[in-house]
Amino acid sequence: MSTTETVIRYVFLAAAACLVLGLHLMNSPATARRGNLLSAGAMTVAIGATAVLMADQGAITATGWIVMVLALAVGSVAGLYLARTVEMTAMPQLVSLFNAVGGGAAVLLAVEHIRQEDVAHLLPQVTVPGGLDIVIGAVTFTGSLVAAGKLQGMVPGRPIVFKGSGVLNIVLSVAFAVGVVWLVVDPTSVWPMLLLLTASLVFGVTMVLPIGGADMPVVISLLNAFTGTAVAMAGFVLGEMTLIIAGALVGAAGAILTKLMADAMNRSIANIIIGGFGTGDDVSVEAGEAAAVRSVSVDDVAIQLAYARKVVVVPGYGLAAAQAQHELAGLGELLEKHGVSVSYAIHPVAGRMPGHMNVLLAEANVPYPQLREMEDINPEFGQVDVALVIGANDVTNPAARRPGNPISGMPILDVDAARNVVVVKRSMGHGYAGIDNELYSAPNTGMYFTDAKRGLVALTAAVREFVA
Ligand code: NDP
Repeated sequence: MSTTETVIRYVFLAAAACLVLGLHLMNSPATARRGNLLSAGAMTVAIGATAVLMADQGAITATGWIVMVLALAVGSVAGLYLARTVEMTAMPQLVSLFNAVGGGAAVLLAVEHIRQEDVAHLLPQVTVPGGLDIVIGAVTFTGSLVAAGKLQGMVPGRPIVFKGSGVLNIVLSVAFAVGVVWLVVDPTSVWPMLLLLTASLVFGVTMVLPIGGADMPVVISLLNAFTGTAVAMAGFVLGEMTLIIAGALVGAAGAILTKLMADAMNRSIANIIIGGFGTGDDVSVEAGEAAAVRSVSVDDVAIQLAYARKVVVVPGYGLAAAQAQHELAGLGELLEKHGVSVSYAIHPVAGRMPGHMNVLLAEANVPYPQLREMEDINPEFGQVDVALVIGANDVTNPAARRPGNPISGMPILDVDAARNVVVVKRSMGHGYAGIDNELYSAPNTGMYFTDAKRGLVALTAAVREFVA
């Protein structure tokens, strides 16, 4: 090993250590930004070090360099542009697209390496992870594209179930097993790779299409875990430690997140992959447009808030869509100054990405101790004077307590136990799961129909009048 290579290996090790530290810093909102910067910096250094290593080994031709620099430029500009211009509400789709390209890139690495490698070196240590890389990476690629399409509304969000999907999944699973064994036995043939690739690309689609209702968060974090695992497998194929560490970190973090999201939804991961979820057909749960709801004015709501002792705010996707977090924080601050106790109830799948509400409220500098997790706040709703639901729907829907609908079994925020409930939303429109919310027709619920941002501005002004 040349001196340059030795130095570069140490740089890789340091970069890997920084990735671990970066992930650790992401544990708290106070240090998350630093963690993100540290991880991105470590990745940039690792890419630079790889270029130095390739130059040192003279492994790349002039054309190769041109292609690589061009690809890097195109990818960086596109990534930077997307990350800078994406709406906060479209973040989940972007994450899904990033998962897709991560999985796709890992597949290309494995295919290219196995095709280039001297046959004598194609031991099972390379072909087994190679085969798994192709399977996991290709499933992630198409699965993430379908998930992004669902989140963007380009693919119907409802579960798409077709006849014979169970049989097809069994056939595809057999194809995976046959393909990996075939690749190990005859690594020179292109056919096992084609078999694995085709079966996996199809499985990615058939796995995600039947998942609908409110189960998308679990799928997104699962695909994220898959991306990391595929990258780690690519690391084994290439014998690259940094790839293995980075991939394993993403895979493990994604797996833990998947478990947390599945627990939050009261789902089993195996059932989501094999069976698809959110397929209940009781989509028209009573209430809905036909049920009588009580509409309240801004002054009604302001009086309730001004005279309350304990207010719990329940933020949801509509708050993010309206970008009303600063207005909400302002109202919370005003009420606190007036002696009202204000807290924010955070449902783990509120919004459209894991931690969405935490990020949103942190952006508006809502004091972190005021944020309360679902299990922590639920027993207290009985003593709450006003539960102020802002753009949240599915996470408050009591229909989840009954079987037979897309959110059955999902733990919800027990908003209906509060003395008074005020729901701020624009219409009787559904949430992501597409079902009516019977909370809206409950006798203790008042509907304040407005856009969250406009409504909160008006509400803050009205409360100010009462407390002045
Ligand atoms: P929902 O999607 O259930 O409901 C959001 C509500 O916000 C809608 O009913 C809508 O009603 C209202 N809304 C939209 N825009 C505005 C606006 N400008 N002003 C006021 N209200 C608005 O949100 P929840 O947060 O309650 O639940 C999240 C759902 O998304 C769950 O089903 C979850 O499983 C799913 N999901 C979560 C992901 C995650 O990782 N967190 C990822 C993918 C899906 P109206 O149109 O009448 O205003």
